[in-house]
Amino acid sequence: MRTGRCLCGAVRFEAETGATFNICYCKMCQRWSAGAFMGVTTDGFKVTEGQDVLKIAQTSDWADRGFCGLCGSNIYYHAREYGGPTVALGSLDDTTGLTATRQYFIDKKPVGFTIAEDTQKMTEAECMAHFAP
Ligand SMILES: [Zn+2]
Ligand SMILES: [Zn+2]
Repeated sequence: MRTGRCLCGAVRFEAETGATFNICYCKMCQRWSAGAFMGVTTDGFKVTEGQDVLKIAQTSDWADRGFCGLCGSNIYYHAREYGGPTVALGSLDDTTGLTATRQYFIDKKPVGFTIAEDTQKMTEAECMAHFAP
């Protein structure tokens, strides 16, 4: 079980996570997270404080994004058909043991930015073929 919170601490959560995180460069994640969204899939995600402060925006037909209504920190991306929310890597209190495994929309990656880790890479076309409802 890992715990996490927003920058101001009003929203706190706990969840089981996998041992990996994914990076998405789609334009929506770029607008939302400055350049890339790093996310960790979860099971049993539970808001433990600040449920009333957590804001949820429906940002596409298939997904919502949760953020703190006070400080604006991104908390999660949630594709409703794919189980629990994918929480923002940086919101976790401890990321020990988590490694990058996949980069989505690799063809939309900001120019001049590359992570050193060797990961699976999927283009926009591959992502849409794999994930689009
Ligand atoms: Zn906050
Ligand atoms: Zn994205």
